[in-house]
Amino acid sequence: MNTDVYWQQEKEPSAGTALEQDLVCDIVIVGGGMAGLMCAQQLHKAGIAAVILEKDFCGAGASGKTSGFITPDSEIELSSLVENYGPTEAKRIWEFVVSGVDAIRSNIEQYKIDCDYEVQDSLFVGTNKRGFEHTQEEHAARQQLSYESTLYTQERLSEVLGAQGYFGGVRYPDTFGMNSYLYCQALRDVLVGEGVVIYEHTAVTSLGKGSLVANGKKIMAKHIVVAADHFALQLGLLDYQLYHIQTFLGITKPLSDDAIKQIFPQDRMMVWDTDLVYEYYRLTGDNRMLIGGADLRYTYEMNERPEAPRPIARKMLKYMEQRFPGIEFPLESIWPGMLGVTKDLLPIMGQDKDDASVTYIAAASGLPWAAALGKYVADKVKDGRSDFDSVFTPYRTFVASRLIEKIAHKQITYALAHGYAKYQSRIFALIADMAKELYKML
Ligand SMILES: Cc1cc2nc3c(=O)[nH]c(=O)nc-3n(C[C@H](O)[C@H](O)[C@H](O)COP(=O)(O)OP(=O)(O)OC[C@H]3O[C@@H](n4cnc5c(N)ncnc54)[C@H](O)[C@@H]3O)c2cc1C
Repeated sequence: MNTDVYWQQEKEPSAGTALEQDLVCDIVIVGGGMAGLMCAQQLHKAGIAAVILEKDFCGAGASGKTSGFITPDSEIELSSLVENYGPTEAKRIWEFVVSGVDAIRSNIEQYKIDCDYEVQDSLFVGTNKRGFEHTQEEHAARQQLSYESTLYTQERLSEVLGAQGYFGGVRYPDTFGMNSYLYCQALRDVLVGEGVVIYEHTAVTSLGKGSLVANGKKIMAKHIVVAADHFALQLGLLDYQLYHIQTFLGITKPLSDDAIKQIFPQDRMMVWDTDLVYEYYRLTGDNRMLIGGADLRYTYEMNERPEAPRPIARKMLKYMEQRFPGIEFPLESIWPGMLGVTKDLLPIMGQDKDDASVTYIAAASGLPWAAALGKYVADKVKDGRSDFDSVFTPYRTFVASRLIEKIAHKQITYALAHGYAKYQSRIFALIADMAKELYKML
C-alpha cells in the first residue's frame, strides 16, 4: 500500500526559492500553510509587504494533506459551541469560522483555482441512538441560530445515503470539498505573481525578540507571525497550550457510476459520523472515495508510526464494507497527517505575553479556521483588530493545569480534555464511546 500523500504524487510541489542572505523586513510569517498564506494575502491586499518563510514547500504541513472538507465545524460542532459559550457567543464564533469558508471559496472563484472544487452538502450521521440524539441537538442548535438544516430519521436517511446502520443524521448546505494541496500551491503562485516574497526550503530554527534565524541567516522584523501550527512546539513555543492529533486519509481508485448511485442515490455529500474517533468520506471530482479515519491508539501518539497505516486501512475498509455491503472500495493510497490541537478544540491566536512583536496562529483544527485566523492576524497587524483576542488567546484557562498534564501525560490529558469539550453534559456518552473505541481496537 502506498503511504505517500496522494495529492503530492499527482503534482510535484513548486521548486521554490530558499533564503540565502540576511533580511530586514516589516513582517515575517513563519509557515506557508493555509494560515500563513491567507495572512500574507490579506496583508498584501492592504498594501503591506510580508515575507513568508516555509521550511519545505507551501502546503507541506497539514494544509496539503487534508480530505478538503470545507465546513465550519471541523472538530467542534455548533451544538458544542452553544453549550460551552451560550447562543450569542456561539453564533459570533461560528460566523467567524464561516468567514474562513467564504474566504477560501472566494479565492477559488476569483483566481479560478483548479483544485477539484466540489460543492457538496455536509451530512453528520449518528452511529447509534445516542449519536442520533447528537445530530438532533446539532439540528436544534442550527435552527435556534437560524441556519438552514434538515434532520433525517433512520428511514428518511436511506433516501439520500445508501448506507446501513446509521440511526439518522443532519444535513446542511454552503459547504464544499477541494484538493487543499492544489489550493495552497495555486495561492502560493498567485501571491508570488503579485510580488509577495516567499522563501521555501527555509526552516526557522530559533526565534528571539524581533529577530529569527532561518537557514543560518538572520531576519529582523517588526512583526513575526508564527503560523507553523503544531511545529511551533519544535521551536520551544506554546508547550502548555498546544499538542497534535494524528489522523489518516485513504483514497480509492475511481468507483463505478452504479456504486456511486448506491451510495448517494440523490446528491453527493460530505459525510462524517458521531463517534469520538470519527470516520468520514466524500467523493472527489474523478469519483474516487476519500476516506478519513483514525484509531485511539495512534490519535495522541507523540510521533508518526510507520506501521500505523496498514491497520488503519483495514479498519477503514471494514467500516465502509459494513456500511455499504456489496460495494468495493479499492484503496490506492493511505497516508498519515498531524494537526495541532488545544484542549478546548478552539484555536490559538494572540500575541506572546513577553514579546508583543510575536503573534501566534496554531491549532486551527480546520482549513476554514486557519483561513479566518490568517486574515484576522493581518487585520490585527494593520488596524489592531482585537474582537476575538479574548476567545483565542493562548493564555486563556484550559481545563487541565500544567500539574495534571505532568502527572497524566500529555496524551491522556488531551484525550480527556477533548471528550470534555465535545461531550460536557453527556459524560456517560463519552465513557460509553471510549469503551467502544477500546473494543474496536481489540
Ligand atoms: C490528514 C488530515 C486531514 C485533514 N482534513 C481536513 C479537512 O477535511 N478539512 C479541514 O478543514 N481540515 C482538515 N485537516 C486539518 C487542517 O489541515 C489543519 O487544521 C490546517 O491545515 C492548519 O493550517 P495551518 O496553516 O495552521 O498549518 P499547516 O498547514 O501545518 O502549516 C504550517 C506550515 O509551517 C511550516 N513550518 C513548520 N515549522 C516551520 C519552521 N520551523 N520554519 C518554517 N516553516 C515551518 C510547515 O512546513 C507548514 O507548511 C486535516 C488535517 C490532516 C492532517
